[in-house]
Amino acid sequence: MSSSDVRNVCALPISSGTIEDAIIWHHDPKGLYQVKSGYQEEKMFQQTQLSASPSTSFQVPDQVWKMLWGLPVPPKLKHFWWRCCHNSLATKQNLFRRKSSREDVCPICLAESESIKHLICGCAWTKAVWFGSDLSLTFKDEVTSISRWMCNLYSSFSHTKERMYFFSKLLWVGWHIWKSRNALVFHRLPVDPQSTIYQATRDNLEFLSVGPCHSFGGSLTHPLAEVSKEVWTAPSSGCFKANCDVAMGKGSTTASIAVLFRN
Ligand SMILES: [Zn+2]
Repeated sequence: MSSSDVRNVCALPISSGTIEDAIIWHHDPKGLYQVKSGYQEEKMFQQTQLSASPSTSFQVPDQVWKMLWGLPVPPKLKHFWWRCCHNSLATKQNLFRRKSSREDVCPICLAESESIKHLICGCAWTKAVWFGSDLSLTFKDEVTSISRWMCNLYSSFSHTKERMYFFSKLLWVGWHIWKSRNALVFHRLPVDPQSTIYQATRDNLEFLSVGPCHSFGGSLTHPLAEVSKEVWTAPSSGCFKANCDVAMGKGSTTASIAVLFRN
């Protein structure tokens, strides 16, 4: 049982009624175990174990792609992330390898080679974007590849709707990181984490508000409509809202704290 499962189980209130205990397969929406579902989970587990070895070429499991293709976001976002996972984005590092660029250094921090991993979640400003977004993502452990990072995030959710809601936001944020980076490279517009967060949130909400989504069989109500209300809201005028995170190293007496204030 994963640590997130343990937390979720411990958070469940104990029933005061006389309902009989039942065994539930939480990877299925109806809670029923099926061999197909069990096989997919086992396959996913094995690939996650393999990913612990940095030399292994990690492939995103089919069930993760299936979830991503079914998200209510524009196809261009899905293709963008597919290219991220297959290292086919025109970053400085990839252009340099193909002798289409004289240098591979990140055009924003000028400190490291601009790989896709660095672009998406390694550069200081992108980390600020992820943390400042309402996903509040931090990077305590080093990300070895975008594919593994996506799969680890996928595995951290046991509820399908929550997972889809999370990833639909994540795809928008990543897309706008890429757009902001391109605006700097091609139009010399400085990157601004707050502006990137705003654009990603705005576009996500606009897309969700346009009506039924064909990806879900054209249902009349959007499947994420209930949870899409749980968005970050700005504080009232004259006030600040603080999002914070604390990290402590194992066996260390030191700690780090990061706080982001927004009006
Ligand atoms: Zn950088």
